[in-house]
Amino acid sequence: MRLAFISDIHANLEALESVLADLEDKAVDDIYCLGDVVGYGANPNECVEIVSKRCKCVLLGNHDAVATGLLTTQHFNVHARIAIEWTAETLLPENKKILAAQPLAKTTDTLTMVHATPYQPGMWYYITSLEEAYFNFQSFDTKICLVGHTHIPMIIALDEEEIYVHQEKSIVFKERDNLRLLINIGSVGQPRDRNPESSYGILDTEEEKFTLHRVPYDIAKTQSKMKKIKMPDFLVNRLAEGR
Ligand code: ZN
Repeated sequence: MRLAFISDIHANLEALESVLADLEDKAVDDIYCLGDVVGYGANPNECVEIVSKRCKCVLLGNHDAVATGLLTTQHFNVHARIAIEWTAETLLPENKKILAAQPLAKTTDTLTMVHATPYQPGMWYYITSLEEAYFNFQSFDTKICLVGHTHIPMIIALDEEEIYVHQEKSIVFKERDNLRLLINIGSVGQPRDRNPESSYGILDTEEEKFTLHRVPYDIAKTQSKMKKIKMPDFLVNRLAEGR
C-alpha cells in the first residue's frame, strides 16, 4: 500500500489542487488528512468539500475546531483570530457539520495519526524540540506517528534511546525493528520552514519507506484572493516567504 498524508491546508485551494495533481501519478491507495482544513485562506468550503470526498480519513485541527465553535479563539493571535472569524461566517452549515464530526486521532495497526501531539491531542500542544518529541514517543504504541500543526516538515527518529532529526527527506525503516518515527508532514497551505512550496508525505508500506514531498503552486493567485477578502497583510505575505 502507498498512503499519502496531507495536513494544514488552511483553505488554500491552489495549494490543495497542486498537491492532489502531484499525487495523480504517485499511485497512492489512500489519502489521510491530519486536520486544519480551514483558517487563513479564501476557500474554506471548497477545501472541506474536496478533502472530505478524497480522503479516507480527516482529523480535527485546532482551526477547524474554532471555526465550528468547538473551541474558542483564546489561544489565537490577532491575525489567526481575524481569519477564523471570517472563516466561521463563510463556512456553510453542512461543511461545519463535516468538520465538527472529525476525530482528534486515528490509529491503525502500524500508525498513529493526530493533528497536534499524541500526548493529549485535544490540548493542541506543539512539538518544537527533541525533548518534547522524546516525551511524545511515550504516548503512542505504533512504530510511526504522523502529525501536522507546526507547519514544519520533519522526520524525528528514536533508535533505542538515541533521538535525532533525520536530515534526508526519505527514510527506509525495513529490518530496523528498534527504530520508531515521529513525522511532521508539514503544511499544504501555509509552509513555515522558509520553503513556500506545499509539503506532504507518502508512506510505502511494502518498501517500508517514508518520503516528504514538496510541490509549487500559484502563490500569487492565492494571495490576490486573500487580499480581496481583506485578510491581514502578514498572512498574505508570509505565503511567498514560507514562514
Ligand atoms: Zn495549522
